[in-house]
Amino acid sequence: KESSVKTVNPFTNKTTKQFDIMDDAVLDTKIQNADDAFKLWKKSAFSDRKNLLKKVANIMRERKVELGALVTLEMGKLHKDAIAEVEISANIFDYYADNGEKFLADQPLETPIGSAFLSYEPLGVLLSVQPWNFPFYQITRSAAPNVMAGNTILMKHASNVPQCAEEMENIFKEAGAPKGVYQNLFIPGKKASELVADKRIKAVTLTGSEPAGSAIAAEAGKYIKKSTLELGGSDAFIVLDDANIQEAATAAVIGRMWNSGQVCTSPKRIIVEEAIADTFLEKVKEEFKKIKAGDPMDPETTLAPLSSEKAVENVIKQVEKAAKEGATIVLGGKRIDREGAFMEPTLLTNITPDNSAYNEEIFGPVFMFYRVKNEEEAIQLANATDFGLGGSVFSGNEKRAQNVARQIVTGMVYINHLTGISPELPFGGTKGSGYGREQSPAGIYEFVNPKLIRTT
Ligand code: NDP
Repeated sequence: KESSVKTVNPFTNKTTKQFDIMDDAVLDTKIQNADDAFKLWKKSAFSDRKNLLKKVANIMRERKVELGALVTLEMGKLHKDAIAEVEISANIFDYYADNGEKFLADQPLETPIGSAFLSYEPLGVLLSVQPWNFPFYQITRSAAPNVMAGNTILMKHASNVPQCAEEMENIFKEAGAPKGVYQNLFIPGKKASELVADKRIKAVTLTGSEPAGSAIAAEAGKYIKKSTLELGGSDAFIVLDDANIQEAATAAVIGRMWNSGQVCTSPKRIIVEEAIADTFLEKVKEEFKKIKAGDPMDPETTLAPLSSEKAVENVIKQVEKAAKEGATIVLGGKRIDREGAFMEPTLLTNITPDNSAYNEEIFGPVFMFYRVKNEEEAIQLANATDFGLGGSVFSGNEKRAQNVARQIVTGMVYINHLTGISPELPFGGTKGSGYGREQSPAGIYEFVNPKLIRTT
């Protein structure tokens, strides 16, 4: 039966499971369940919410190998990385379980006109639209803080990871979530944008591409609903002339090949100071030789397939276009000649500002190398993009690195480290990469009303 919500294993390109799209009557019931659940959940004790999230975290940890295998089956990533993803997701549930009450406690305000405090009150039903590249982590980032805050969740996951989407709903059920607190929706992306108009839905969050983000945020604007967006990125990875070249080269290649390059904060543009550029490039080529494409379930494999055939086609098109416009393909650039959605690790150089690759996000294992005269030019190039998500600065001089980090216009910069993930650190961007933050204390304040109560 034809359905756009299905599992197609990108390692074999075989469809293994399909799901029916939910019709309007089913959707209406789910939205009503979420709204009804909110009326009770918003009044629930923090201890109940904490217990629920702790149980979710424990179940995920207990089942991490099996859940990881489901991730690998649906979008192709290395099984060991999928297990790590389930673990970090469990840690995020724990983080909000342990700290949510503290973050949302009434906050006294100093005022010369009496006394006052902020009361953090949940908004209601949150529509969360998420992508496939980290099937469990992406949904966790909105589910954990918002369930803790007293909101209820309607989760529209990407159409190619339906089994992960369904599993998350099952985990919430098994953990004892009241009916309607967390529900999965099997609907196409466009339908999610249409749902924003429903009066029972109070806010929306999306991680994904700019067209999807723009479409849903336009609806949120039209109906005056709060939104957050985490869109793409073209992060700069700056290597200054006093950096440890080997460490930087290893990190850059590992970072760029992680998840086969399908990471919003992947170091997509490697910017290296002239003085060390040749040595750095040689080391990068050495690192490329170590990459081993193969079965993502095999612990020896280091490069997994991309998420789908279409994804490979799109990335190859982008690389071919870049080459036509004057970029040099030093290594790779083609499909790997085998079954599955595999692409060669690719190294691109000589990308001039008029090249389309200069300002595009390439969501695949494509390493774009830039050589710059000095630090100023590195900063200028890092900022010469519509995106503003993350970034890295490698240098042997911490003060110098911090000075550069301050001048990069993004939401996150890591020094001598790839842009990473930790529950207590904020994640999010600026410019075309979107707005709002997930994780950290900031993540729980996005969809609450900080209501002023002025007492006598
Ligand atoms: P999309 O942005 O299309 O998908 C992300 C989510 O948005 C999915 O759940 C999708 O649903 C939904 N969606 C799609 N269109 C709309 C819409 N009009 N209104 C509301 N929701 C919508 O990403 P793709 O998977 O197609 O990937 C395309 C590109 O997006 C990538 O090449 C990459 O550049 C970027 N991307 C960035 C990510 C990040 O982490 N920042 C993650 C994934 C992609 P459905 O699956 O049903 O279409």
